[in-house]
Amino acid sequence: MNEEIPNLPNYDDSSLDAAFATLAEEVRGETASLVDVEAFRLRWLGRKQGRLKLIGEAWLKSAPPEARKPLGMRFNQLKQQIEAALAEAEAAPPKRTGKAGIDVTLPGSVRAPGIEHPLLKTMNEIVRVFHHLGYSTALGPQVESDFYNFEALNFPPNHPARDTQDTLVLAGQQAKPSRDRLLMRTHTSPVQIRTMIAEAPPIRIVVPGKVHRNDAADATHSPVFHQVEGLCVDHNITFSDLKGTLDHAMKALFGSDVKTRFFPSFFPFTEPSADVQISCIFCAGKGCRKCKHSGWIELLGCGMVDPAVFASVDERRVAIGGQPAYDPAKVTGFAFGMGVERIAMILHGVSEIGQFYSGDMRFLEQFA
Ligand SMILES: [Zn+2]
Repeated sequence: MNEEIPNLPNYDDSSLDAAFATLAEEVRGETASLVDVEAFRLRWLGRKQGRLKLIGEAWLKSAPPEARKPLGMRFNQLKQQIEAALAEAEAAPPKRTGKAGIDVTLPGSVRAPGIEHPLLKTMNEIVRVFHHLGYSTALGPQVESDFYNFEALNFPPNHPARDTQDTLVLAGQQAKPSRDRLLMRTHTSPVQIRTMIAEAPPIRIVVPGKVHRNDAADATHSPVFHQVEGLCVDHNITFSDLKGTLDHAMKALFGSDVKTRFFPSFFPFTEPSADVQISCIFCAGKGCRKCKHSGWIELLGCGMVDPAVFASVDERRVAIGGQPAYDPAKVTGFAFGMGVERIAMILHGVSEIGQFYSGDMRFLEQFA
């Protein structure tokens, strides 16, 4: 700041011209490579320490009266030159500084757009198959009451089937009646009940979602996993419709060569019930390690909706002021459910279920 003020011994025109030419040259030199416009403005036009002010004070103080006017004119010219340089610098795009400049030979920074998680992708693929059949998606809460998760699905209190699903129950529920106690849903089936209570037939829903069981984690089990459930209720729905629907869905998911077969099974909320197997997609049914040399892979459970489920639904519909709509003599239906993890593991050859939840990018990037 404390720049030396040039000395001005004489105030004749030629001395003034020479002195101001030096200053004008100084300004031009600085504006040629101007980086910090604000610093330049302060240095020359600053109100207290600006060079114009300091030089003006020094020179005017010792100037003879007849030299004041020509001195003032030349100051104005210099000031105009500085202001013009500032206006030009401010209008121009900012200059890059030399050392930290942009290396145009560097590759650009790419922001990966992200992908569906393999579980979400598999779930969406399954849901899409049923959307094409005219099903719509239904969702429900993960914290359920005992009524929706068990009782209405024909698991009465103390039913032995309840022991097969180790359920995570919420604490502090003992004071409530058994059917109102809250728990983490053990399957997506409560959404069947919720949908039928809210709507009269026909119903065609597909229910993707997260479910919880008090299982120890191992290679094929996780306490939290995903299911896709389906429900179709209408007049004259038969077991043939169930078989045809699931056969089509398995071919759509695993390829048109896949065969399905149905084995008698048991679920409290369907009667009759069946386990569905597909022909092994790895060995085309010849037998390999993946299918334990049987040629078949068990994939889902299904059955015709048990009339006791319809009775529970109608009972609740009437209790909340609605009309019964599920007379088992008039309506029938089928339901099915499958595990998303299991299907994703088969589709992608994943042997450890935990990899889906690990968040390991090396694993997840393979699905990009
Ligand atoms: Zn096989």
